[in-house]
Amino acid sequence: MRTRGIVAALLAAPIAVAALAARGESLAAFGAPDAAAALGTPFDGRCIPAGCVASPSNTPGILGRRALPAGRLARLGATPDFHHELLAGAQQNRLAQVGADAGVGVRLVQGKVYVLTGPGDNDGNVTVQVGTDGVLLVDTQTAELAPRIFAAIRTLSLEPIRWIVNTSARLDHVGGNDALARLGTTPASIGRPRIVAHENVGRRLVGVPSVSRDAWPNDDFFTPDKDFFFNGEAVVVSHMPAAATDGDSIVFFRRSDVISAGDLFTPGRYPAIDLAAGGGVQGAIDALNTILHLTVPAKYQEGGTYVVPGHGRLCDEADVVEYREMVTVVRDRVQDLIRKGSTLEQVKAARPTRDYDAEYAKPGSPLPDTFVEAVFRSLKK
Ligand SMILES: [Zn+2]
Repeated sequence: MRTRGIVAALLAAPIAVAALAARGESLAAFGAPDAAAALGTPFDGRCIPAGCVASPSNTPGILGRRALPAGRLARLGATPDFHHELLAGAQQNRLAQVGADAGVGVRLVQGKVYVLTGPGDNDGNVTVQVGTDGVLLVDTQTAELAPRIFAAIRTLSLEPIRWIVNTSARLDHVGGNDALARLGTTPASIGRPRIVAHENVGRRLVGVPSVSRDAWPNDDFFTPDKDFFFNGEAVVVSHMPAAATDGDSIVFFRRSDVISAGDLFTPGRYPAIDLAAGGGVQGAIDALNTILHLTVPAKYQEGGTYVVPGHGRLCDEADVVEYREMVTVVRDRVQDLIRKGSTLEQVKAARPTRDYDAEYAKPGSPLPDTFVEAVFRSLKK
C-alpha cells in the first residue's frame, strides 16, 4: 500500500518514468519493500551531485531545491543522476506536463503556496504549501481523485503531508482526507497528519456514511482563529460564522501572502449558501469583507495578495471586490422586495440576479433561483 502510492505518483509523472527508463532502471526499484521507509529518513542537507541547487527563484520548497541523501536514494533504487534530473531542470514545464497527464493542474501561486486544479471544471481547488517542514493541504477533493492529487503533490515535494486544513464539511473538500493522509505519511511511523477544521465541520461529518472516521478532523477548533507556524510562515485559520455553512474557514499564509477561501469565494459562480447547514447571506458577505480586509493589491497592477477560491481561477483583491458587490447588490434587491411584501415566488419572478446571470449562472454554479431563495430565506429568518 505504501509503495503503491509512490509508484502511483511516478506513473502519473511520465517524464520521471522516461528518465528512469533511459538509465535502464524501472519502477520496480521504486516499488521495493523498503522504498517507503527510505522516503521517511531525515534529510541530511547534502546535495547530489555536488552543486545540485536549483536556481534561486520564487519557488522555495520545489523539488529542485530539495536533495535526497545518498542512502535514501540507494534505498529507493535511484541513482544520483536520475535524482538530479528528476528534481532539477525545467521545473515549470515538468509541472505543467505532469499536471496535464494526471489531469490535475499544478500552479505556483506565490511564495510557498501552489494550487492544484481539476481534473474537471467543477472540481475544487487544493491549496498546497510546501517546504522543509513538510506538506500542508487546504481541502482534499474526493477519495477517487486522491491518487492523482497525490501524484501532483509529489511533483512539488517528497516530504510527508503534515497538515490538512478543511475549509468546510462539504464532501468535495474533505473527501480525500483519509486517502491523502495515508498516501502522504509513509512509513506509518511518521504519524497521521493533523486535520484542522472548525468544530462544526466534525459535527457535520459524524454519521455521513461516505466519510470514514479517519477522515474526520483530529485537530478541530472552536475559537475564532487557530494559528501555527509551518514552513517558515504563520498559517492562520479563521472561522467565518454562518456563511456558506456554519463551519467555513479561510486560511491565510502570511509570508507567502495567499488566502485560501474555500467555497466562501467562487468566481464565476453564485455562492452555494446552505441554510440547512447553518449558512446565511449576511455571513457570506461578512466573510468576503474579512477576506478584503486581509488582501492588499499590488500598486498599478494585478497581484499583491492572491486568493485561491474553492472552485475556479486564481484571483486577487479586485476579483473579490467584484464578487462581494454582486452578492451585496442581490441581497439588497431581495431585501427591498421583501420590504414591499413580495413572496418568494414574486422575488424569483423579479429576477434580482438578471444582470449577473451571464457571468455567474454557469454549469456547476447554484442556479440563480437557488441563490435567490437562499438569500430570501436568510433575510426572512
Ligand atoms: Zn466546494
